[in-house]
Amino acid sequence: MKTLHFAAAAISGLLLAACNSPTETPDVDTPPAPETFANVTAERLLNARETPAEWLTYGGTYDEQRHSLLTSIDQTNVADLGVAWTYDLATARGVESTPIVVDGTMYVTSAWSVVYALDAKTGEELWIYDPDVDRSVGVNACCDVVNRGVAVWEGKLYVGVIDGRLEALDAKTGELLWSQVTVDQSRAYTITGAPRLVDGKVLIGNGGAEFAVRGYLSAYDVDTGDMVWRFYTTPNSSKQPDGAASDAAFESIGNVTWGDTGAWTSDGGGGTVWDSIVYDTENDSVIFGVGNGSPWNQRIRDPALGDNLFLSSIVAVDADTGAYKWHFQTTPGDNWDYTATQTIILADLPLGEGGADRRIVMQAPKNGFFYVLDAQTGEFLSGDAFVPLNWATGLDEAGRPIETPEARAGNAAFFQSPGPLGAHNWHPMAFNPDLNLAYIPAQEIPRAYSDSSSEALAGTKWNTGYDFAAGTAVELPPGTLQALRATLKGRLIAWDPIARVARWTVEHENAWNGGVLSTAGGLVFQGKLSGEFVAYDAATGDRLWGWDVKSGAASGPGTYAIDGEQYVTITTGWGSAYGLVAGIAFDDPLPPMVGKVVTFKLGGTGEIADADLPMIDRSPKADVFGDAAMQTAGLQHFQRNCAVCHGELVLSTGVLPDLRWSDYAASSELWASVVSDGVLSANGMVSFSDTLSSEQLEAIRAYVLSQAHIPGAPD
Ligand code: CA
Repeated sequence: MKTLHFAAAAISGLLLAACNSPTETPDVDTPPAPETFANVTAERLLNARETPAEWLTYGGTYDEQRHSLLTSIDQTNVADLGVAWTYDLATARGVESTPIVVDGTMYVTSAWSVVYALDAKTGEELWIYDPDVDRSVGVNACCDVVNRGVAVWEGKLYVGVIDGRLEALDAKTGELLWSQVTVDQSRAYTITGAPRLVDGKVLIGNGGAEFAVRGYLSAYDVDTGDMVWRFYTTPNSSKQPDGAASDAAFESIGNVTWGDTGAWTSDGGGGTVWDSIVYDTENDSVIFGVGNGSPWNQRIRDPALGDNLFLSSIVAVDADTGAYKWHFQTTPGDNWDYTATQTIILADLPLGEGGADRRIVMQAPKNGFFYVLDAQTGEFLSGDAFVPLNWATGLDEAGRPIETPEARAGNAAFFQSPGPLGAHNWHPMAFNPDLNLAYIPAQEIPRAYSDSSSEALAGTKWNTGYDFAAGTAVELPPGTLQALRATLKGRLIAWDPIARVARWTVEHENAWNGGVLSTAGGLVFQGKLSGEFVAYDAATGDRLWGWDVKSGAASGPGTYAIDGEQYVTITTGWGSAYGLVAGIAFDDPLPPMVGKVVTFKLGGTGEIADADLPMIDRSPKADVFGDAAMQTAGLQHFQRNCAVCHGELVLSTGVLPDLRWSDYAASSELWASVVSDGVLSANGMVSFSDTLSSEQLEAIRAYVLSQAHIPGAPD
């Protein structure tokens, strides 16, 4: 036997020797080529469009068109797409991340700002970075503890953390390099947006305008985390200079648009820059979208009722200094949460003299108009309603909305469209520059804005100046829910910004929408709340492929190529604002919510594992108690304090617990231990003892149990 072994070894050695001619013999002394991780330079970012094998920044390129030049997957073969790999993000909270793919590695984020590095070809996990956020900050997040992604630069990776930190990580190891607090953490600031990298500076804004904050965009040094410039979007309460890049703009045009009294002087006025930031390479401008006023209700925010710059505006500043260049205000004197933070796309369209190319800015903000502006000057070129709306009849020659009188009446009887969730929300829009079509994830989710005495709202954590309890009743009249649901609509619109018309429209099952990817293969990809990922013909909207991803999918899809093979990827787990509040919108069953990265390729044979979703015992855990007056009071306190997280009328989508079936609702002591004593604050359910009396707590419990006992209550 020994002889045989020896013989086999000898033969192996001979074979090896035979296979390696002297010139091909590997030199064992030569170290392997250094692995590269996120070695992104200014040049690579500037050329991102020409290197479509990678996805280098949130919107794909600085223009943020989300249009890839990859063509391996096209209309003729998209039907052969199958699963390449999946990765479990281990969360049932909202996921909004667009993966960055660079040097063979995918960087993706999940709820609570956790960062994952994966092998982009196989999905193998390389490292995880958890910023270890105190879960009690979750109550500051209007729209779930989501994160839309990272930025990369010279071996580093940058992430905005939900509690207001901006952090730099080593792209190879996930090791923390620096951490900078970018907000006053004593106020309800959050960060959900993806940072952007421009010429050695990392740009980040924040959210929080549903509470009481003052918005701004900041630029930080990539190596040190030191602030380079900051542009505030509202004046400080005394209208004095901040020593910031925005000072000159407020002195010349901003301050006069604000009165001297009103809630803004203590609340900051809002105007958070929570999503869209693009870099216009031609004009060296950073162009960003500004959010709504705080509080929403302008009569309470600023009784002078001026335009309130720069709320709901698109603003352009100098990339090096942050100095003001131009602005366009989509909704002067915002009164309805009409943010202009939605996707900003830069393109060259034949809108110049004699049909010459002109560099333009496009946006479809919450207010329902599709805007085209000159990128150099901000000049208004066109604006058209892309959904039915009733707050304005159109725009004047300067692009200013012509409001309907009902829109500022603050009358609960006026069901306004769009509502605060907007005609378009954070879901990324895409643009195909060959067809000159913008793909808008559009929605119709109307709502009544009900003025109320500020007394009723004093102390509530949300600070909108509207009463979310108005017009609601303990027991809805028969048919009310069905009638409400019939008003909710979602669609994908292919909008022609030159002819200013929709070229095609696809109607969706649900109102809340999904982000879009356009490719030079003539395809448009979009995830849906119903749990499908779909490819459409970019020119006609014909459906060419669809896949059950076993979860609602709302984030921006991406595409990349490795070893010549094209991949298409999307993160699932829909969550976000609608995911918290809108259980009322759904018949059973609710769209499943499972946090995953799902990546496809031609001929992929992988499978998406069924989610191990917990079974919920949908039965009341205690009897109804309290009289009608108590339950009605409970309804009002619930709508004002609890509905934005646990669902309108206690109809939860399941992102956060459905209180109707909660054991905590069964006992007065257990209920108070959570809502008053904050025993679950480590999970994000903080104490409301500063907001609600023990009598009010019991009234809410009485209302919650009454809802649990309504026969045939919708799940
Ligand atoms: Ca808002």
